[in-house]
Amino acid sequence: MTHYDDNPEYGAMVARLDRLQEVPTEVLNTTVVLNGLCLWGLWPAVEPDWEDCAPSDRALAERLCEGCPVTDQCLELELRTVGASTTGVWGALPEDDRRELHRVWQRRRQQPSHNDQEGGATP
Ligand code: SF4
Repeated sequence: MTHYDDNPEYGAMVARLDRLQEVPTEVLNTTVVLNGLCLWGLWPAVEPDWEDCAPSDRALAERLCEGCPVTDQCLELELRTVGASTTGVWGALPEDDRRELHRVWQRRRQQPSHNDQEGGATP
């Protein structure tokens, strides 16, 4: 049985978010609010009828968030603030992916080697 922590795709996603770990949540929130396409009514694809959407529809999530300049910031923010209770589409991922990703993300952030990185944080 494959453990989600062994899923290399999730591992690569959380590694990509390492550069954001020192960015304060308020800064991430402001960055997403000011730049997120959906928050300006600019979702590139026609918004679906959410009742009909599968919580695992990754293609839909990617389509909806395509071109958004703050997908990583959005994903990091959602993982921090909502975590395993997340719903809908955020950070170009559907909720099923984000729930599993949250477990991998939490585990990685608890490792000391990922909490003392050098370099400045950039939102
Ligand atoms: S990544 Fe998607 S959900 Fe997040 S702000 Fe951008 S368009 Fe909106």
